[in-house]
Amino acid sequence: MQKAMIEVNNLSKVYHSSGVGNTVISNLNLRIYQGQFVVIMGSSGSGKSTLMYMLSGLDKASGGEIWLHDQPIHQKKEKELALLRRDHVGFVFQDANLIPNLTVLENILVAGYLGAGSKEEIRRRAEELLQQTGLQEYSHRLPAQLSGGQQQRVAIARALANAPQVLMADEPTGNLNSATSKKILDLLTAFHQMGQTILLVTHDIRSACRGQRILYFQDGGIVDELTFDHEKSTAEEREKPLTDWLLEKAW
Ligand code: ADP
Ligand code: MG
Repeated sequence: MQKAMIEVNNLSKVYHSSGVGNTVISNLNLRIYQGQFVVIMGSSGSGKSTLMYMLSGLDKASGGEIWLHDQPIHQKKEKELALLRRDHVGFVFQDANLIPNLTVLENILVAGYLGAGSKEEIRRRAEELLQQTGLQEYSHRLPAQLSGGQQQRVAIARALANAPQVLMADEPTGNLNSATSKKILDLLTAFHQMGQTILLVTHDIRSACRGQRILYFQDGGIVDELTFDHEKSTAEEREKPLTDWLLEKAW
């Protein structure tokens, strides 16, 4: 059996405010393998973002274990976690959050330069990412001169600048219209086909159809999983079974 890229054992998260504990995650177990496109669904406030932040070491777990590529995230100090995130995890959020006074190319390069690769390597990779994201002709523009969808493409290129083991995207199309969302999803699909491991949080059925494993998150844990064989169905064909599956959960 292949070793999991991300392994979570008995994870829990409790937020405390004015003496009251709010358990957001309890007893959660999860394994994600290299090259998988995993989707997390679940109602708003169920803890999806919290889970992602803990997986990447952005937030501390209250209990349990998280292993990322043999590294025990749950035992690391903040400094080590920062390095781990820098080298192994790429993040995309709902907002692109690009640096406004840097060009598209510079936004990608800056992310790359923070990593461990040589300057030439980073430059080569940035050029490659510009091409893969269809942004070559925009490379010298500032973020404000781009549409929302184009900005999100830059955010994806930036997240991949250090060739991370896993790309985590938290509602990356949440602010985009459906035509623009489709382009972003096509891009994620293309990177997945090139071997990129992806973890996507979404409440959008169309987005979720791009995944191979759909995890349903409820009451602090993963309560169900739907798997799709990408060789046997198109994303469109997966919409109906996914919708039915979600309806069973009183979606
Ligand atoms: P989702 O991403 O599924 O919408 P979140 O992970 O953002 O859910 O939040 C899960 C729950 O944890 C919510 O009830 C939210 O209010 C609570 N929560 C999230 N972040 C914090 C925080 N920093 N302090 C206290 N409670 C939080
Ligand atoms: Mg969230």
